Amino acid sequence: MQEFLAYTLAGETPARRCGETAQFRWTWWDEGVVELVPHHATLPALVLSAGIHGNETAPVEMLDALMEALHHGDIALARPLLVILGNPAALRAGKRYLTDDMNRMFSGRWQNFPESGETRRACVLEHCVERFLTCAGPAWHLDMHTAIRSSYHPRFGVFPARKTPYEQAFLGWMGDAGLQALVFHRAPGGTFTHFSSDHFDAQSCTLELGKAQPFGQNDLTQFDVTKAALRALLAGEATEHLNAQPLRYEVAQQITRQSEAFVLHMSAQTQNFTAFAKGTVLAEDGATVYRVENDTEYVLFPNPNVALGLRAGLMLKEIT
Ligand SMILES: [Zn+2]
Repeated sequence: MQEFLAYTLAGETPARRCGETAQFRWTWWDEGVVELVPHHATLPALVLSAGIHGNETAPVEMLDALMEALHHGDIALARPLLVILGNPAALRAGKRYLTDDMNRMFSGRWQNFPESGETRRACVLEHCVERFLTCAGPAWHLDMHTAIRSSYHPRFGVFPARKTPYEQAFLGWMGDAGLQALVFHRAPGGTFTHFSSDHFDAQSCTLELGKAQPFGQNDLTQFDVTKAALRALLAGEATEHLNAQPLRYEVAQQITRQSEAFVLHMSAQTQNFTAFAKGTVLAEDGATVYRVENDTEYVLFPNPNVALGLRAGLMLKEIT
């Protein structure tokens, strides 16, 4: 379990694939997938994933540091934990993905893509999460990413659509983890967190922590508050309450690139959560014109370079 990231980046399987510390038993399930079960677990389980996109390294480094702290007993693990490095091949290459974006493939959508390392990996991760959560019962799933672009809110969470409301404790933890904005989806998607939420009723959130940088070039201090909240979560301790409440947004509309004629009317420097006034033309795709429909809408994840049929951006409205 030690040097989990190093083994994963080297593409190696450790000679010992299970073991015990004073506090927990660990099992290496697959490349980049380790289960930790405390000898005396009393609290609900947790899935912690990072590196679904291979160029989003800051949360991977943070997860690796947390694993080391667990191994050395600096954090007393109080809940069953499944740790996942999502896309090891893309992490090795320092790329978002090698063939197709894995975070559009979950809930079986990988079957709609040409077969690749990513479709096979999405299938493996679905099985791992199923195996873990069918035994573990109600759980939280935090899938950690970094955004491609800069953001007016550098730390934010994106929540999959679900039929029942989110637990207050879950939403409260997000504020304590230093998230500045919470974004709620209103429609299903192919994300990892939608899969765990929809199939296993997990409390799931995609955490966006800063901007994508290569390994070793991350300023991890800007995530200290998030790391402290994660340490507390692992140990089953109360988080420190922060005074600032995150702003809340919901998805107003999705911009989808349907054809080669697609044009996004935003610059490459447009930051996440940039505001647009009612009536502004956001994008055009042949005869389809995307306009701001509410008084103000805020853009999230603008990306004109996605494959046909995929999301080129989300427009949000603030929940008041
Ligand atoms: Zn990502």
